Amino acid sequence: MGRAFVYVILGGGVAAGYAALEFVKRGISPGELCIISEEPVVPYERPALSKGFLLPEDPARLPSFHTCVGANQERLTPKWYKEHGIEMVLSTRVKSADVRRKTLLTSTGETISYRILIVATGARALRLEEFGVNGSDAPNVCYLRNLADATRLVEVMQSNTGGSAVVIGGGYIGMECAASLVINKINVTMVFPEAHCMARLFTPQISNYYEEFYKSKGVNFVKGTVLTSFEMDSTGKVVAVRLKDENVLSADMVVVGIGIRPNTSLFEGQLTIEKGGIKVNGRMQSSNSSVYAVGDVATFPVKLFGESRRLEHVDSARKAARHVVAAILEPDKTGDFDYLPFFYSRVFSCSWQFYGDNVGEVLHFGDYTSGNTFGAYWISKGRLVGSFLEGGTKEEYEAIARATRLKAKIEDPAEVERLGLGFATAI
Ligand code: FAD
Repeated sequence: MGRAFVYVILGGGVAAGYAALEFVKRGISPGELCIISEEPVVPYERPALSKGFLLPEDPARLPSFHTCVGANQERLTPKWYKEHGIEMVLSTRVKSADVRRKTLLTSTGETISYRILIVATGARALRLEEFGVNGSDAPNVCYLRNLADATRLVEVMQSNTGGSAVVIGGGYIGMECAASLVINKINVTMVFPEAHCMARLFTPQISNYYEEFYKSKGVNFVKGTVLTSFEMDSTGKVVAVRLKDENVLSADMVVVGIGIRPNTSLFEGQLTIEKGGIKVNGRMQSSNSSVYAVGDVATFPVKLFGESRRLEHVDSARKAARHVVAAILEPDKTGDFDYLPFFYSRVFSCSWQFYGDNVGEVLHFGDYTSGNTFGAYWISKGRLVGSFLEGGTKEEYEAIARATRLKAKIEDPAEVERLGLGFATAI
């Protein structure tokens, strides 16, 4: 048995939702578009899972955060997809793909064929087993990638109020989960191998601010070491975490955020893979002209940097999704994707945004002691290439984005440091 569609989006996450809205805005006929997703619900704003979803009071729940509310656009409910004649094939995993025949084989045994395929399979959370540690399946060990994970995390948190949690990993999942655990009245210890949190993005000075802030909320940091094994009770529940530095931390629950791996496996050997993702051109088109890729799974040319990158950020998924639909439906009017990388996070009362690239020399500015507004600029070859700001206003964030996009010329770094935010707002 099988069905055929003009357009198929494989994956039902952030990129799929934003692409669907763009298809409808630009005009497609009912029955032309199909979205296949392993998840049981229509696309939603994944970042909500580590933020509003984990709040103890008045938590965010579907349908409130279906796409595309995250970009202040229409909220696409199941009814919306139905009204626009978009076929949603949910709770269905695609087991294999044949790009030569233009077919996908699903877990229900159906073959779905396409004229054009958009791969938006995102990424999966890396598991401890991949680092030689067993125990991921214990009832009180949590990961966070999808709605099912988040629902489980809430249940485990609620049954451990007043208890202790060990958070493994110092990236944004670890940081956001640690904040949520504290808000849920759980004592948190964060463990990570780097010297400071958010090491892929933050400078030591920026990290130091957030670590001190977290400490003031009761979070402990154990840095420069990794988890080596779990101690379990007779029911298989984790009761303690053993570290390489020989420390043992007792734990009522564990949250693991140790990175992600893009879901490329269906296409390995069929499409060109680069930097871990499906390689696409500025039109998001892969090495097979009928297959496009967007979101966490795609490695695309970032014009501003003059090289291809794979970005794991929601803004990139949203904008690339809009771009790919334009490139497919109006190829003559659509140029290459020209994207300014953007990443943000919100924890406790903190809120920061980052634009561009964190390479080169760093200039810090603002008040790192009160934490009201502070930031950093990254300078490479006499140009501004990256900007970070905590606690900015909408206009200030727009200003650092604009200055980074323009690659503002830096003649006197000391003067830029003195001007701080004023340097960007004056541009
Ligand atoms: P996803 O949204 O992951 O969607 C992929 C979809 O494909 C999923 O529905 C998956 O089930 C489906 N799928 C995969 N393989 C198959 C298959 N074989 N068959 C069928 N379906 C399949 N980014 C930020 O910039 N700021 C943030 O604050 C932020 N917070 C985040 C918090 C959390 C908890 C998480 C997990 C991510 C966060 N991100 C954040 C990252 C952001 O959510 C991702 O960059 C974005 O979701 C990528 O969109 P995507 O469509 O590529 O992938």
